[in-house]
Amino acid sequence: MDIQPETPWDSTPDISARIVTAIGRIATVLRSGMWEVSTGEGLNPAQAEILQLLQHRTRGVRLSWLAKQLSISPASASDSVAALVGKGLVRKAKADDDGRATALHLTGEGEQVAARLAHALSFADTAASQLPQGQQIQILTGLFKLIAELQKTERFPELRACLSCRHFEANKYPGEAVPHHCALVNAPLPISFLRIDCAEHEPTDPLTQRRNWESFA
Ligand code: SF4
Repeated sequence: MDIQPETPWDSTPDISARIVTAIGRIATVLRSGMWEVSTGEGLNPAQAEILQLLQHRTRGVRLSWLAKQLSISPASASDSVAALVGKGLVRKAKADDDGRATALHLTGEGEQVAARLAHALSFADTAASQLPQGQQIQILTGLFKLIAELQKTERFPELRACLSCRHFEANKYPGEAVPHHCALVNAPLPISFLRIDCAEHEPTDPLTQRRNWESFA
């Protein structure tokens, strides 16, 4: 039996597999950029990520929320937080909404370190900003859709994104070029303005969140 030589196309993985590979490679480069800066600050990657998650969260956050965001156990999150409290970068206070619960906040020094960490990925921001505006919007839209699909698997941690915000009004202007609306600023919300991490975000109920993400996917 003749053996057919393999053409280069036979072994090309599906587009979906290459998307996952590309995102994985980008994530590795970003992690390494963050690693460099966090090491310089005397922090391990989990500690650096906690400082970033606490940034701009004036009401503080619970330990259980941090553990979910980092996809680690509450015990591991607790160890990292204890180290950050020891370094004077994080402080514990009573939660606003429950006096018996503890909320975690950045200290003044923690704010400064978090601001320096925020610049760690500026090289990637610069690279993305080199793409034409239309392509940036297409990529952002595609990433929102991918996140929406991942949300269905319940593997994706909660985001302070427009699509899970109680101020977000999906399809308020059906058929219009800009169909969505932000009730907080009382203005239409084009895709190019949809946020992934908004300081003004207030979570909406789970059913509306699911409906918003599904309508976007
Ligand atoms: S911009 Fe902020 S406040 Fe407005 S809908 Fe989006 S997350 Fe909510």
